[in-house]
Amino acid sequence: MTNRPDRPLRPSRRRTRCGRAALGAGLALAGTAYGMGTALGQPVPEPATAPADGGVRAYDVAGYDVRVTYDPEASRLEGDAEVAVRATADLARFDLDLALTARSVDIDGKPARSFSRSGDGGVTVVPEEAIEEGRTFTVRVRYDGDPGRSNPSWARGEDGGVITVLAPVGTWFPGNGDPDDTADFRLAATVPDGWTVVSGGRDRPVRRHGGRSTFDWRSTKPLPAKDALFGVGKWDVERTRLADGTPLTTVYAAGRKAEFEKYADQQREIMSFLSSEFGPYPNDTLVSYLLDSVSEEVPNLAVQGGVIFPNAENEAYFDATVVAHELTHQWYGSLVREKEQRNLCLSECFASYAQWMWPEFGAGEDLDAKYRQEIEEHRTDDGFWQQRLSEGRGVYDKGPVMLHALRRQIGEAAFAEVLREWPARYGGTAPEWAELEKLVQEVSGQNLKGFFDAWVRGDRAPADAYLRSRS
Ligand SMILES: [Zn+2]
Repeated sequence: MTNRPDRPLRPSRRRTRCGRAALGAGLALAGTAYGMGTALGQPVPEPATAPADGGVRAYDVAGYDVRVTYDPEASRLEGDAEVAVRATADLARFDLDLALTARSVDIDGKPARSFSRSGDGGVTVVPEEAIEEGRTFTVRVRYDGDPGRSNPSWARGEDGGVITVLAPVGTWFPGNGDPDDTADFRLAATVPDGWTVVSGGRDRPVRRHGGRSTFDWRSTKPLPAKDALFGVGKWDVERTRLADGTPLTTVYAAGRKAEFEKYADQQREIMSFLSSEFGPYPNDTLVSYLLDSVSEEVPNLAVQGGVIFPNAENEAYFDATVVAHELTHQWYGSLVREKEQRNLCLSECFASYAQWMWPEFGAGEDLDAKYRQEIEEHRTDDGFWQQRLSEGRGVYDKGPVMLHALRRQIGEAAFAEVLREWPARYGGTAPEWAELEKLVQEVSGQNLKGFFDAWVRGDRAPADAYLRSRS
């Protein structure tokens, strides 16, 4: 990946280490083998090309019902997953992403004619008879293996537990890696007593039996398979609500609750603030993981309905502005998605600008002064200006400076309207950057071609007229 998940953020000097950049770049890589570990700097094998006859991914998943048994000490997972599918073309065979070893595959209760490892590291299933377009059916896969084998996105915690961060689809259950294919998700995970499993959505009471515990999590809204989380640790789990009543599950690293609680309180305040800026929180639940001492290679991450801070103990990587950044992705990144590197600014520039907005709101920081300081600091810094936002570069540092310039250009009221109107209008879609420029021009009534040419497509400092650093 050309894009690194961590970029410096000035002037706080904190590194955002947000995983969405890597995610954005990885989204095109739907398959298991070539998605494996790419976010964390692993070699990237060539993507397998789809067979010429097509049809192998010609389906929509309606729901996943995943049952796993996991032993953290042995890092061994046994799974039994039912995937409810609708064929969108006649299917003589089809592929699912699965990095573990499939032991049996049934379709509507009958064994498949055959199944085998596919070219891209998933599993190719051949049904007894071709499945007609439009038919719905259930694929049941029993499988097992070590999901952490050469997969750094199966990130191990200090307590020996695990959290999936940027885990390619197929790491721990068979799925469709296409991020546009959203589905209901249910997880029943059995672990030895003493361990706690947290995924996303809502959970049901834990069942304890014979030295083991089964945790049951269900999504409250269809989600892409990549956003289904698996986490197990010796955690403290706290259930509260956001100000709007949304159930909030906060996961604390073992023994860190007293220390990290302040972030959970800030998180509620930040969510109220962001909801007032961007519109109502777009999900029914929120799960927040405040972990410690997970590998420092593992970035912070937002998925639909969840945020993960793997190193909340490390103030070089983590503070309230980082919380604001990741929570902003619930609107800018999950509700409105970006799929291509060139559109990364649609998510990361806004999430990075939330790192300005929160101290302005919470502590009265003077953002015009901060902006002038940024411009002054970078006046002769060619490397800063050479980053073209239109190529997805500079989104963490040049991006928020550009958005503040835009705010000065179009004024407070228009800027506030853009922040709300974008998620309202484009929620559930993956628009191009050009749509944002159109919206800003529509809302402001200004012709902003020169502004965006200079700030977004340009590779040098904008002319004074667009910098507006003195006004
Ligand atoms: Zn981000």
